[in-house]
Amino acid sequence: MQLLAFSRGGADRAGTRLGIRTDAGIRDLTERLGVADVGELLSRGIPADELRTSGRELVDPASVTMRAPISRPGKIICVGLNYHDHCREQHVEPPRYPMLFSKFANAVADPGATVTRPRATEKLDLECELAVVIGRRASRITREEAASAIFGYTVLNDVTMRDLQKEDRQWLRAKGSDRFAPMGPVVVTADEIGDPQALRMRSAVNGETWQDSTSAEMVFDVASIVAFASRTITLEPGDVIATGTPAGVGHYQSPPRYLTGGDVMRCEIKGIGAIENPVVDDEPRLDDHEAAAGIGELVAG
Ligand code: MG
Repeated sequence: MQLLAFSRGGADRAGTRLGIRTDAGIRDLTERLGVADVGELLSRGIPADELRTSGRELVDPASVTMRAPISRPGKIICVGLNYHDHCREQHVEPPRYPMLFSKFANAVADPGATVTRPRATEKLDLECELAVVIGRRASRITREEAASAIFGYTVLNDVTMRDLQKEDRQWLRAKGSDRFAPMGPVVVTADEIGDPQALRMRSAVNGETWQDSTSAEMVFDVASIVAFASRTITLEPGDVIATGTPAGVGHYQSPPRYLTGGDVMRCEIKGIGAIENPVVDDEPRLDDHEAAAGIGELVAG
């Protein structure tokens, strides 16, 4: 089953509707179920069987705007350094246990939405990631129990400012800024995805391939990550866990490459689909003198 959120034109989030993708088109589930996206669906605990029989109205996919399937996740947990090939490209040993960090709901962006490059960075980069969507409350579960907590999977782009990632010495601004987690285009349920450790993953910028790998390169597999996170963090329905990125990001290319206004990022995982997000440069809001003064006040305060 492939679930998605969409709207019929306009950027109004209130107009978002939940749909199920079928061969004939998108079946609109909102009227019947009264929920606007996958996150709401999971929070309400509506059983999957009900989805299969709900919604008669068919919508032409070409006539809609795709939305992030979960617009306000309670948590976005991410994993750093979780691909062997990504560790190799930066000449570091894989970590001994999953390295968790987080993004907030402000980072969620729709498939197709623009991502603004903040003026604070010269080194904007992308990371194509397999994201787990949690289906039930889970605390201190085992690796074997993890499968029962996973509702499905989606694609997430862990957009990153490499200069701030280094300078800040932790990753909140570098990875948590607005729209730094484009997500979608659908959530594919776990039964349909098959083996989550055998999915081809690719990213491209302006049509040129940057990353081309598979989820078999993960240091810690999906089940291990879910179990590990649940040891200390109660997972809730609709939470999202981005499981790390493979080799090929711009920062570790030779020479390094970074994103700028006009570039188009594409992240794709086989069996789920692709999201494309254009980059735009932020407009100056303060002139240099005012910006410097503003920072001075913050530091002095
Ligand atoms: Mg990442």
